[in-house]
Amino acid sequence: MDIKNIFCVGRNYAKHVEELGNEAPSKPMIFTKPTHSVTYADGSSITFPRQKGEIHYEIELVLYIGKPVPLNFEVDDIVTKMALGIDFTLRDVQSTLKEKGHPWLLAKGFRNAALLTEFWNFPGVKSCEEEKFTLLQNDKTVQTGQANSMIFDFQALLEYIYENFSLGEGDVIFTGTPEGVGPIRHGDEFRLMWGKREKGSFRVKL
Ligand code: ZN
Repeated sequence: MDIKNIFCVGRNYAKHVEELGNEAPSKPMIFTKPTHSVTYADGSSITFPRQKGEIHYEIELVLYIGKPVPLNFEVDDIVTKMALGIDFTLRDVQSTLKEKGHPWLLAKGFRNAALLTEFWNFPGVKSCEEEKFTLLQNDKTVQTGQANSMIFDFQALLEYIYENFSLGEGDVIFTGTPEGVGPIRHGDEFRLMWGKREKGSFRVKL
């Protein structure tokens, strides 16, 4: 998969905004990750930074732009594939950055911070909104989400990104995480589920 830009959305599910004690945004809160941070949930062990405080998992729906983006687009016309992803976050580092009003890059852009499952054909906004996605940590469900409970829906997110940064073929968008985020530990095994289907798995190496 050829990935150009990685856009991510913060605070896009009300219950997740609450659990971190944040305020709900009036506009989408967009940040990016370097493409060097991409890794895949292909069953292998993945290494994460040590001694930088807690690293949190955040499972998210990920959209892939597979066509040139015209003015006044519809999501169904430009999104050709989707995946599940984890927006890994150095939570303690992020808290310090937030206090200082600094950018989040150090907390969100490290190596292996943008984990992706395999991509599959985008089923369209409607069917996508009907399916639940789930993250299991050592066989225990820790996060479940569904696109229809996002604060900003796919159309609103992509229009906002297009307007402010432009959007093109090869871009991926992490669309925000539902509640239940928490720390990873050495040896943890994670599985990412789309409905009842497992789309990827990996093991944590610290
Ligand atoms: Zn996130």
